[in-house]
Amino acid sequence: MSEIHKFLFDGLPVRGVLVRLTDAWTEILRRRASGAFPLPVQNLLGEMVAAVTLMQSNIKFNGALVLQIFGDGPVKLAVAEVQSDFALRATATVVGEVAADASLSALVNLKQQGKCAITLDPKNKFPGQQAYQGVVPLVGEAHEKLEKLSEVLQHYMLQSEQLDTTLVLAADDKVAAGLLIQRLPPQGAGNLAGGSPGPAHEDEIGVNEDYQRIAMLAASLQREELLTLDVDTILRRLFWQEKLLRFEPLTGDAGPHFSCTCSRERVGKMILGLGIEEAQSIVAERGEIEVGCEFCGAQQHFDPIDVAQIFAATGKTPPASPALH
Ligand SMILES: [Zn+2]
Repeated sequence: MSEIHKFLFDGLPVRGVLVRLTDAWTEILRRRASGAFPLPVQNLLGEMVAAVTLMQSNIKFNGALVLQIFGDGPVKLAVAEVQSDFALRATATVVGEVAADASLSALVNLKQQGKCAITLDPKNKFPGQQAYQGVVPLVGEAHEKLEKLSEVLQHYMLQSEQLDTTLVLAADDKVAAGLLIQRLPPQGAGNLAGGSPGPAHEDEIGVNEDYQRIAMLAASLQREELLTLDVDTILRRLFWQEKLLRFEPLTGDAGPHFSCTCSRERVGKMILGLGIEEAQSIVAERGEIEVGCEFCGAQQHFDPIDVAQIFAATGKTPPASPALH
């Protein structure tokens, strides 16, 4: 059962989220049509899925939150996406060999050209509205290669929200899990959750003592604990000296679950994007256009009549022979 648990530290400017994905995560792996991912890729993807779930439950964005890593190593692209109802999907494109113990940089940042992008794509865009995208490198301030996705995302959160954030992520073939601890903005200050800007507060990044203490406790959480312990045990072990205010967990229908937003209509639009000549040449060569979804494994087949219909619907007809006058 996949679950999201949110909590506040009573009286302190600190909040937290713990996610534990089981069926939602194993379904993502099961849907992989082209064979299992190499182990380090699987674990990276699991951490990405846990991370987007944490970020979405933290900011409650009305739309898709997409985390992409554009790699310069054997992993060319890794994508994890979460909708506002916690529908999740993820995939990765792997080219070439991956060592069984490959580090993050060996996967995606061999030549320090790897990048991580976080896109917030609103559900109901007004005309001309663009998705917001933030891009962070996979290196730290001294240009050292970062070896943990959590560190990459902590940089992003500090940059985009101006709030200290601690992340712990872990995944194997059964569980993808994560813990997020974040300092709350000073009372009255504007943040992503809305609210009007209050009086000026001095910048508290890196200096709030309550946050620092709780972040250190959070960072002591071990991978094995995160993967094998239940949520109550984890929170008790880490924060037994703190007073937690727990929210009703999100699980079952309201919780994280696998779902793919692909459809025949969308593939149709993609074929339209190819242009009529390209589309017809594929049909001439193979008898149909077949498109497989990288996320859910669904196969869409378009025969010559389907393809003709796609273009006919736009009013574009195949180039006819020149008319005689
Ligand atoms: Zn799909």
